[in-house]
Amino acid sequence: MHSKHLSIALAGNPNSGKTTIFNNITGTRQKVGNWPGVTVEKKEGYVSKFGYDLIIVDLPGTYSLTPFSLEEIITRDYVLEERPDVVIDIIDASNLERSLYLATQLRELDCKVLFALNMADVAQTRGMKIDDEMLSELLNVPVVFTIGNKNEGIDTLLEKAIELAESSYEIPKTRKVKYSKDIEHSISNLERFLENWTEGSIPYNIRWTAIKLLEDDKIVKERILQKAGKNSQDILREAQRHRDFLVDRFDDEPEIVMTDERYGFIFGIIKEVLTTSTKQRVDISRNIDLILTNRFVGFPIFFLFIWAMFELTFSLGAYPMEWIGGGVNLLSTFLDSVLPDNLFKDLLLNGIITGVGSVIVFLPNILILFFCIALFEDTGYMSRAAFLMDKIMHLIGLHGKSFIPMLMGFGCNVPAIMATRTLESEKDRTLTILITPFMSCSAKLPVYIILAGTFFGASAGTVIFSIYLAGIILSIITGRLFRSTILRGADAPFVMELPPYRVPMIKSLLIHMWDRGKIFLKKMGGVILAGCVIVWALLAFPRNMQYSSDYAAEIDRVKASYVAEMTTANEPDKQLLEKRRDAAVAKLIRSKKAEKSEKSFMGRIGQVIAPLFEPLGIDWRGSVALLTGFAAKEIVVSTMGILYVADEEEDSEALKNALLSSDMTPLSALAMMAFVLLYLPCLATVAAIRRETGSFKWMFFSVVYSTLLAWVVAFCVYQGGRVIGFS
Ligand code: GDP
Ligand code: MG
Repeated sequence: MHSKHLSIALAGNPNSGKTTIFNNITGTRQKVGNWPGVTVEKKEGYVSKFGYDLIIVDLPGTYSLTPFSLEEIITRDYVLEERPDVVIDIIDASNLERSLYLATQLRELDCKVLFALNMADVAQTRGMKIDDEMLSELLNVPVVFTIGNKNEGIDTLLEKAIELAESSYEIPKTRKVKYSKDIEHSISNLERFLENWTEGSIPYNIRWTAIKLLEDDKIVKERILQKAGKNSQDILREAQRHRDFLVDRFDDEPEIVMTDERYGFIFGIIKEVLTTSTKQRVDISRNIDLILTNRFVGFPIFFLFIWAMFELTFSLGAYPMEWIGGGVNLLSTFLDSVLPDNLFKDLLLNGIITGVGSVIVFLPNILILFFCIALFEDTGYMSRAAFLMDKIMHLIGLHGKSFIPMLMGFGCNVPAIMATRTLESEKDRTLTILITPFMSCSAKLPVYIILAGTFFGASAGTVIFSIYLAGIILSIITGRLFRSTILRGADAPFVMELPPYRVPMIKSLLIHMWDRGKIFLKKMGGVILAGCVIVWALLAFPRNMQYSSDYAAEIDRVKASYVAEMTTANEPDKQLLEKRRDAAVAKLIRSKKAEKSEKSFMGRIGQVIAPLFEPLGIDWRGSVALLTGFAAKEIVVSTMGILYVADEEEDSEALKNALLSSDMTPLSALAMMAFVLLYLPCLATVAAIRRETGSFKWMFFSVVYSTLLAWVVAFCVYQGGRVIGFS
């Protein structure tokens, strides 16, 4: 039996997958040559399928069918002159807009055309959904999804092509590009003219010919001259008349106006058939980025965000902080009243509850801080911040990518140092690890809050923000220093990814926040509790010490001296005397406590290290507190709580009041904050540095360098401040 022959041409944009599909269909049965007279490759293949002998032609890739390039002329002439039974337009589905231009032009040629929506996989991964039925209906062509490189949908494509070739398909007049009124008017006039004057001597579709004449298409004009015989000059003159009219109307060449209108038509189609879940987000993201990563406003906005984060942490956190503080006091008062006086009670009340209690009140602040950091991460702002910082990071010889671990360092240095694993270059990693501890971690926050809150009142938020900023600046200076000395080298080039912005899920934010909160609470029960017990023990022992005077006897003497006076005094005077007496007694108790702590083990350690801190304006108690902070930075506060709070009566403002009545000034508080910001990282961080750099050398280097720097900076702050008269 003789099978039927059909010819199928594959058209499409370059790289849409034509050759891939051609090879899939024809396998090895190919003939490769050139198109007649030119060096453009012509591929033909043969295959027998579904009872047909198919000739497949791989046309040159083109974006349109204007007669401007060889490929376009070949493709158009092949379709016009050779009249293949079916033209398959291979459309890059992930690039619909660009592909549809050729598609609409093929539609205008009135050949039997079929769309293969190739690259369907790419379109899908980009979140594009194409309504194939709608597209098929709108343009009146069959549509098939294909994945060329996986040979998916190819058989269906061939089946449909054969079906289309065999159908007595009436080429519909509608559902093509419709041009604006003036152009359509010229088209139909010219169509009528052509029908009357060519007497069927032009083999092409009349409407298409009219359109091409209006576009001043060279090749079509030549064909008219060849084929329309004696009337050809009249036709060209008539076409020119319409062109002149349209140029006058639109003040532009008709071909340009018509190209615009075709794109308008394509946009309309795309609106109907294409839904993207990502494109819109990408567009919105791009618009947001125009502002947020702008060279001029990007930085102020970035600092505003960071400042707002600390302001929020401080001011919003103040409320729950008060509640927790109140709760701790209630517990303390209650235990005080029910427990018998003994060493255990002393440990529980003055060691554990005072110590841990002074840190646990910061749980809300830390939760808020981590909430904000999670917000930056989940919205995608974090990588914008890194992008913004890229230029500045290059000053240190690092790139923006290093800024992400540094930003994370605001939360906790340990995961931050682990996050440097994403950096490729060893030197970049080491450098980033060395400067990350200057990003003030959340454990240092309680120290700032207590010091800034006590000594700077309303501007505490701004002071804390400045401390953080100082950390960033010093890390940059340090980085620059190290890059030009011990870690010389160039930064590797890289691409900063900017994922689209996302609306963060509140659940994910809360989970992030709580994860960090849990670690904080665990620390409370572990290292901080242990630290408090040790500090308390060092302070409570030795038990039987020699006081410089017999305080008990003196208190009795003071009380007795008032008794005589008070019995003779009248009512108002009596109250006054009572007050005076109580104050005198309290003063003696305070002196006793102060002497006791000074003579304790802790006091002795303090006396040894105090000279080191004296130039910084920090007394022996502050020095000891800083020393204990090596275990965990929160312990600085709990130690201060145990050491400074000497009065018997306790309230939520106890540490604050104690600090205010100590020798500490706003200036020395500032120096102490600077010291806390910079000095040796906590135990866990030191271990992380050792692990991630793989060397004890870098670990010791980091410890020594940061502590030295802390001392120098705190010294400059304190002494400099005194010179300029700030106190
Ligand atoms: P042509 O220029 O139109 O002939 O395109 P090619 O057939 O040379 O294809 C260009 C590239 O796209 C090749 O690397 C193909 O492997 C790839 N390709 C073709 N079809 C698909 C498809 O459906 N999905 C994907 N992901 N890649 C494809
Ligand atoms: Mg090719």
